[in-house]
Amino acid sequence: MTSIFSRIIAREIPAEIVYQDDLVTAFKDIHPQAPYHVLIVPNKEIPTVDDVTADDELMLGRMFSAARSIARDLGIGDKGYRLIVNCKDDGGQEVYHLHMHLVGGYALGRMLPKRD
Ligand code: AMP
Repeated sequence: MTSIFSRIIAREIPAEIVYQDDLVTAFKDIHPQAPYHVLIVPNKEIPTVDDVTADDELMLGRMFSAARSIARDLGIGDKGYRLIVNCKDDGGQEVYHLHMHLVGGYALGRMLPKRD
């Protein structure tokens, strides 16, 4: 089954695409959790981090390069931001097409609530 992100990449459903190259596509999250919230997605449909292989290493590197470039374009490169990749149910993944969240726009604080 084709993922919703594959359909965005194929321009079958609308999204605010901010970056695209031969390996990855980035678009604004439909329910932003921060002032800036962009998803960076491989053009190839890989369900989760648990499904990546050595053949995907160029694409995985490109996800980070794209994140850096997009953050610079958004003007948050200097102050910083957070990159998040959720994996499967316990990781809170909802869309099973690998993606990196780029979130920023204020001081995000701790990554997770503190556990004592
Ligand atoms: P995750 O929980 O890591 O799988 O995150 C999935 C993300 O995809 C959520 O932040 C959703 O808001 C976002 N999302 C789902 N459908 C769309 C869509 N059609 N366009 C943009 N973002 C979407």
